[in-house]
Amino acid sequence: MFFGHRVQHHLTRGPVKGGLRFHPSVDLGEIAALAMWMNWKCALMDLPFGGGKGGINCDPRGMSHHELERLTRRFTMEMMPFIGPDVDVMAPDMGANEQVMAWITDTYSVHTGHLVPGIVTGKPLNLQGASGRTRATGQGVGFLASNALHQLGMSVDGSTAVIQGFGNVGSNAALTLHSYGVKITGVSDVNGAIWNEGGLDMEALMKHVGNTGTVVGFSGAEEMAPAGLLIQKCDILAPCALDSVINKSNAADLKCKVLAEGANGPTTPEADVILDDRGDVLIIPDVVCNAGGVTVSYFEWVQNMQRFLWSEREVITRLVTMLQKSFGQITAYAKHHKLSNRMAALALAISTVASAKQ
Ligand code: GLU
Repeated sequence: MFFGHRVQHHLTRGPVKGGLRFHPSVDLGEIAALAMWMNWKCALMDLPFGGGKGGINCDPRGMSHHELERLTRRFTMEMMPFIGPDVDVMAPDMGANEQVMAWITDTYSVHTGHLVPGIVTGKPLNLQGASGRTRATGQGVGFLASNALHQLGMSVDGSTAVIQGFGNVGSNAALTLHSYGVKITGVSDVNGAIWNEGGLDMEALMKHVGNTGTVVGFSGAEEMAPAGLLIQKCDILAPCALDSVINKSNAADLKCKVLAEGANGPTTPEADVILDDRGDVLIIPDVVCNAGGVTVSYFEWVQNMQRFLWSEREVITRLVTMLQKSFGQITAYAKHHKLSNRMAALALAISTVASAKQ
């Protein structure tokens, strides 16, 4: 028996949009908070969506392919009265992937009697997924982190980055930064952390992860305690895994110039106060930093609804334009009103939703 949840934060600006996560820590409170987060994220990016989030309390790593399929299909059936391309559009979140989205599409379509690709985003390409969706979140993180370095007057080429979490978001953020000439000095995953002062060989690391499923044991690096990785000296620190990893126990010790929040909620409110007081870390708040995923989800949904087919190049060009615009608005608002970037992002998002409500 598993417990699943779906929370729809509000539908004033369109269908709710947000991921479905499979994780043992899932509970209703967490999912409700994440649904609200999605709401601000969509408003900030000016996507015609409200916020939603779902989750099933399970450990997908301990389940077989068929167990996961049965779980996903049954959850979809339970959700049938509450979801639809104009009502609630799910996407992958932690522990879910494009296969899970394919099962949801199929279950929903079987009940409808025809293929309904707009029911979820993050689908496989051959089921009308969008080119570029899988790497969009990480790519957005990398793109905005390099943008932040520009804002600080630093050169991107030759700068350093530490990435916490090496799933879809973390690995693609690392690859994107690496492609800009950034040295990835440390990465971690659930099994441990690795470090190489001179920069990790990303091609070899990706091969190692492909073969072993973890960054640990990579011959081109030394091992390090995961908690120690977060406080290493670097230009960009990108927490791309769980929430609350930057907290009051380590916020004073961070040695990065840019904190790129690839995960949802990686920084606790207590840590935020400490970082605000320090004033020497430029924060790219999660609601914009990881919004690349939901933005390309929006492109996928538009293509599905209109039967369009855009190239990956079109998708990525639109994505970076929208991310740059939104981050620019946040930093300008923060400067003008003397607020932190996070407060500015929330103020902008809340006023967008409030005016729609009015
Ligand atoms: N799960 C992702 C997020 O938290 C993507 C949501 C979506 O694409 O709808 O932003």
